[in-house]
Amino acid sequence: MALLEAREAGLYCTLGDFHIDPALPVERALITHAHSDHARPGSRAYLTAGPGEALLRTRIGDDAAIQSEPYGKPLRIREVSVSFHPAGHILGSSQIRIEHGGEIWVVSGDYKLAPDPTCVPFEPVRCHTFVTESTFGLPIFRWSDAAQTMAEIHQWWGANRQAGRASVLFAYPVGKAQRILSALDAAAGPLVFHEPVERVNAIYRAQGIPLPLPTAQTNAPGGNADFSEALILAAPAAQGSRWLRRFGDASTAFASGWMRIRGPRRRRSLDRGFVLSDHADWPALLQAIDHSGAETVWVTHGYIAPLVRWLRERGKQAVPVEVVLPADSEAPGPLEPEARPE
Ligand SMILES: [Zn+2]
Repeated sequence: MALLEAREAGLYCTLGDFHIDPALPVERALITHAHSDHARPGSRAYLTAGPGEALLRTRIGDDAAIQSEPYGKPLRIREVSVSFHPAGHILGSSQIRIEHGGEIWVVSGDYKLAPDPTCVPFEPVRCHTFVTESTFGLPIFRWSDAAQTMAEIHQWWGANRQAGRASVLFAYPVGKAQRILSALDAAAGPLVFHEPVERVNAIYRAQGIPLPLPTAQTNAPGGNADFSEALILAAPAAQGSRWLRRFGDASTAFASGWMRIRGPRRRRSLDRGFVLSDHADWPALLQAIDHSGAETVWVTHGYIAPLVRWLRERGKQAVPVEVVLPADSEAPGPLEPEARPE
């Protein structure tokens, strides 16, 4: 029995009369996490996991009607039972489990299996149909240990300090920046945070996730601060901005899963690319699908066709689900893959 269908606004549950991560305003929206391509303003009512409520509020506005539920607690919505389960992607990110008469469907949202000190780890949930993302659904996407990537970042920062130039690291400001900060050696030099990054840092700190504070004298406006030993953590949107010019001759780098392929790094004319993703890589996608025990897999968000083909060749029922993503205010112009939040 189908508990979900793909509608214009996104995935819709008829028996519960709600959408999941709708792309258009709807009556009732269940939200997997607060990234802009999953959480959009304008719906009448929202439901999300407790740890994600504050982030969602900054995304869709103070006036929005948001209800939240703790992880794992079942909630009756019309004819279905719904619960949120950790997805390990960013703070408060969830898989959404829907049950009706013994039939169970799980919508993964975005997820990763790798450890991340800033959010609750991914929880495998058994189901009949698993709706998986496929942002990095190609065999070329395999992540090394995050600790190794952090060591490379520290090495790059150290070499720049020696050379007397600032280190500007671009990272997506919701989730990725905080994951980097949580593993950063804050004693190595002054820290400067771009305002959109620090705004989200504050929400994480308020939920008990320890993150280093910016170094006071370097974050102050004006003055003659010396940035030659500083690490500047900035949103990708800061590239080419006036704000960045104050740091003088800086080395620039980007931390993203997209740095695994060379094109994005060249187009952005960066000195370095660090491979760090908050999404499952190819082996982790397959592992999550396997552990769900699902007979049927719906594939959405990303490299849909290659993953569907791979699953079908191995006897799984795999269904491509195209969810149309309207243009994002944070990503002007055509929605390039690397412009998508991750
Ligand atoms: Zn996301």
